[in-house]
Amino acid sequence: MPLRSTNIDETLAQVFGYHEFRPHQRTIVEHVIGGGDAFVLMPTGGGKSLCYQLPAMHREGVAIVVSPLISLMKDQVDALRANGVAAACLNSSLSAEESASVMADVRAGRLDLLYVAPERLMLDGFLDFVGSLRIALFAIDEAHCVSQWGHDFRPEYVRLGELRGRFPGIPLLALTATADDQTREDVRVRLGIGLAPVFTAGFDRPNIRYTVADKSSAPEQLKAFLAERPSGDSGIVYCLSRKRVDEVSRKLCAAGVKAAAYHAGLRPEVRTRVQDDFLQDKVRVVVATVAFGMGIDKPDVRFVVHYDMPKNIEGYYQETGRAGRDGLSADAFMLFGLQDAMTARMLIENSSNAEQVRIELHKLSAMVGFAEATTCRRRVLLGYFGERLEEDCGNCDVCLNPPQLYDATVDAQKALSAVFRTGERFGIGHVIDVLKGADTDKIRQWDHDKLSVYRIGETLSRDEWTSVFRQLIHRGYLRQDIAAYSALKLEPAAGTVLRAETELMLARPRIAPKKAEKKPRRSSALSDLGVDEGLFERLRDLRREIAAEQQVPAYVVFGDKSLADMASRRPSTPEEFLEVHGVGQAKLARYGDVFLEAIAAG
Ligand code: ADP
Ligand code: ZN
Repeated sequence: MPLRSTNIDETLAQVFGYHEFRPHQRTIVEHVIGGGDAFVLMPTGGGKSLCYQLPAMHREGVAIVVSPLISLMKDQVDALRANGVAAACLNSSLSAEESASVMADVRAGRLDLLYVAPERLMLDGFLDFVGSLRIALFAIDEAHCVSQWGHDFRPEYVRLGELRGRFPGIPLLALTATADDQTREDVRVRLGIGLAPVFTAGFDRPNIRYTVADKSSAPEQLKAFLAERPSGDSGIVYCLSRKRVDEVSRKLCAAGVKAAAYHAGLRPEVRTRVQDDFLQDKVRVVVATVAFGMGIDKPDVRFVVHYDMPKNIEGYYQETGRAGRDGLSADAFMLFGLQDAMTARMLIENSSNAEQVRIELHKLSAMVGFAEATTCRRRVLLGYFGERLEEDCGNCDVCLNPPQLYDATVDAQKALSAVFRTGERFGIGHVIDVLKGADTDKIRQWDHDKLSVYRIGETLSRDEWTSVFRQLIHRGYLRQDIAAYSALKLEPAAGTVLRAETELMLARPRIAPKKAEKKPRRSSALSDLGVDEGLFERLRDLRREIAAEQQVPAYVVFGDKSLADMASRRPSTPEEFLEVHGVGQAKLARYGDVFLEAIAAG
């Protein structure tokens, strides 16, 4: 077990190529090196791995890291090895010979970190083996999997509770990004570290820009969003159904985007290929159901799009959290249609478990509240997780482009009267037809052209009327009766508006899908740093080639942040190259020459 140095700042720079710790990392690292247990709660992308990887190199023996997903293990081990760290994993994907060779390395004390799946670790024979080793620490990643309260319970995690008693004196770290109190407490108790300190990093991800747009013509809106981004930026588009995934990915491919579909209905080898191609930057956009992402640790995902609204904020936050883990600017873009909310509601109400229906409807309404928010979105999000933001964030669509409020009392009266006069039996589309004075079969059939409300709404467009109706529904003046073909019904509050007892301010709709700018916007990653864009893109190409050749994820070679830093510093010597973010001794030795050459040429 090669001990590099006793100075953690040196290890941080020489091995990881980072020049400072993120909040809490230093305290945790020192605490664990000193032999303490810890519970680490950090948002996705917060930098949890370093909290055990660095101590692993500063304590004698091998660190045992428990991780639930094979693909994640492999990527972490690849990334560590690329930094010259002696790491390996043991899981069912290895052949008998490979396993034997890893075991031999462990026995001989040649490894700093060993990643294992929980079911393997807890085999009696394996625990005896572990007992015969010198152990630096135990780290349990995705520790919420141990709790039945959590959203991701895994039975094979339960037995991990035996570790604390069986290996006294060896530090045990549990790490998770799961937010709710009940799960946190349960995890600590189950792992036997109830008295250990809890390190909590804030949940805010300030580099992510949250934007919600009203869904009007979704495929066009998505294409416009992508067209604004440079072709080297990669991202994920989440859809609610497999069918939608296939359809959207087909459309993108037809429009010349390097996209691929991913969902649980595809064969495992297809899924693995899509995942690898995404990590190696061969595929730019993965269109996926929520099945995609758990095992993906790509730090330079520049955008996450929700083509459909997710069912709850927990899911939304976890999915958007996959953007911008490297700390550079990233986008979370969601399309929100009223139809989505209704479909979600219907699916939830199909369940026979009344208690579960109640909880899920509550979560859904929080999600809709976020989508319809007319105040800072980050405040709404963090507020949901019990965190308060002192001031508006300045980096969400509401902050950047505040909705304009106008006195909509008269419009609302027209809309509500039209619902009333047509007998509370029709959906939004027909009521708007009446307001606009349309000539349709349905109108003639019901004699709706004879009503006093017929054609009183010509001044607003259909989209504007739709927006008025959505807001009236959201504010509780109208409701859609799903059991009756989404017919609009008046709620008691509607009376106060109809009788003009209150003045009603509504937001002007922001529906016009943004036209794609002619020239793609600079990579969001670059706008932070003021970088030579041509050189950056050439370095990205070089990275892609190397990653493909070595069959590793592109970020294992270098992350976007490192490339952007190179393009701005333009190092010309090995010493200067070492200054670059993410460049330690191992990467200098391995990649220094080719990248220095590319920089000199560009
Ligand atoms: P988590 O496991 O909490 O989701 P990771 O450990 O994968 O997050 O870290 C997210 C990203 O942040 C990675 O690309 C990692 O290399 C980077 N990172 C972690 N710590 C630092 C640091 N001190 N300085 C710069 N980058 C860091
Ligand atoms: Zn904001």
